Amino acid sequence: MKSLDVDLNGVALCLSVDDVPVHGESVPAYSRLDIVKHFTDSFSHHGVEGVYGFVNGALIEPALITKTLRKMATFKTARKLVNVSAKLKFDLSCYMNPQITETSNQNQQLLQHWLGRGHYLANHNYWHSDLNSTDVELFIAGIERNQKLISKFPCARTKLFRYPYLKEGNTATKRDAIRDYLADNNFKIAPVTVNFNDWAWNRTFVKLSKNGFTPTNRDALEENYLDIAVLSLQGAVVAARKLVGRDVNHVLLLHMGAFTALTLDKLLSRFKSHGVKFITMEEALQDSIFDETLDIVVQGRGRNALEQRLIVNNEPENGVLLFAMRSSGAVS
Ligand SMILES: [Zn+2]
Repeated sequence: MKSLDVDLNGVALCLSVDDVPVHGESVPAYSRLDIVKHFTDSFSHHGVEGVYGFVNGALIEPALITKTLRKMATFKTARKLVNVSAKLKFDLSCYMNPQITETSNQNQQLLQHWLGRGHYLANHNYWHSDLNSTDVELFIAGIERNQKLISKFPCARTKLFRYPYLKEGNTATKRDAIRDYLADNNFKIAPVTVNFNDWAWNRTFVKLSKNGFTPTNRDALEENYLDIAVLSLQGAVVAARKLVGRDVNHVLLLHMGAFTALTLDKLLSRFKSHGVKFITMEEALQDSIFDETLDIVVQGRGRNALEQRLIVNNEPENGVLLFAMRSSGAVS
């Protein structure tokens, strides 16, 4: 694998978790509560406190978890269906049954555990809607419905919103309408500077779990995940130095999935062994880079704060890591 010669000693990194309380497929050996506990235990082990979990309320309230949704293989697919039903203003609550209520109760317990360990909840849109393919009215309804639910739980230090898929709107009108709504309602936008698609390893992990691990393939999967995570942070550090001219407070996006949960302790150890310093979201937000709102409209996939700066600087849009490798001569 290509590498970057970057010293991470003293780099400030805030950890954050999306798609709470559940993301992706699980494996039989672990309950959903086990997965959340792996997160909270790993954070405790490394002295990481007050982590923000970005909630999708549709996974918690029984009204929108239907028989059909329960049968879906992954929650990602389920969310798509919920998006469609919301667009059609189709009330799925008629599908409610006791088992569904049980699932939603279990998911609420996951939140209770997370909060009980000193972490916080924040808004990630009720339906995990993609702003680029949702109208403003429905997107705001998703934020409001989610906030109503979150406010039933103990309050976080900061009222935060994170855009699903990091998509901030495919037209200036849409983008500004949501930015205005968030500002008017005292939301801070939760930034991201590092996302290495931690969820992408889960599918292989689930497959291997079902087919039987060998010690080698599980280790190889973990090593690959850890290497990419470190490389991605190194890429973000190089990119920030080039694009912003200094070290910034970095914010890492993780997802509440099984493989990340089970590898998180090793991930945090790996970062620590490089001298990375963990900071809270409140500390991260003190960096002035996050006060700037960029006047760009991004089509296609969502872009994190550094990727958006690549666009502003007219750099090729093929990702922070490649930019970092090119600009430091690791690749031509
Ligand atoms: Zn998400």
